[in-house]
Amino acid sequence: MKVHLKQIPPEGVHLEGEEDCLIPDLESEGVRCAGPMRYQIDIGVAEGSLWANGSLKQPVELTCVGCLEKFVHEIKVPAFAVHTELHGPETVDLSPLMREDVLLNLPAHPRCDREGGRVCRSAKTAENETTKEERAAKRQHDWGKLDKLKLRR
Ligand SMILES: [Zn+2]
Repeated sequence: MKVHLKQIPPEGVHLEGEEDCLIPDLESEGVRCAGPMRYQIDIGVAEGSLWANGSLKQPVELTCVGCLEKFVHEIKVPAFAVHTELHGPETVDLSPLMREDVLLNLPAHPRCDREGGRVCRSAKTAENETTKEERAAKRQHDWGKLDKLKLRR
């Protein structure tokens, strides 16, 4: 994302939009952009330096470490902040800085159930094992009901 300094008014400017995937090289590691990066930033120039504050969101498809299934996760950078000195060129490319922050917020051990929106298959399996006894008890209980019915007849 290139910013033209001449287009930034003295009072700064609010920018919102979408940017192409900044991490295409991570596809080989199982991280694939599931859409464009969305940004909302305030940007300004003061005393020979450029500042920017805002937030970034990048949906990515990750592979769960638990069940190995793919799922979509939104990388959020809630406090993207830049303060950089200007060295002459009339454009500043924010992409490398944005990319860095997106990477910092990429989960190292992604799990599909980390946001509670879904149950990981690996967690389900573990759960089933712990409740095996419970299920056996329930089965006995059901038989008990059946016995009562028989008695009533
Ligand atoms: Zn999972």
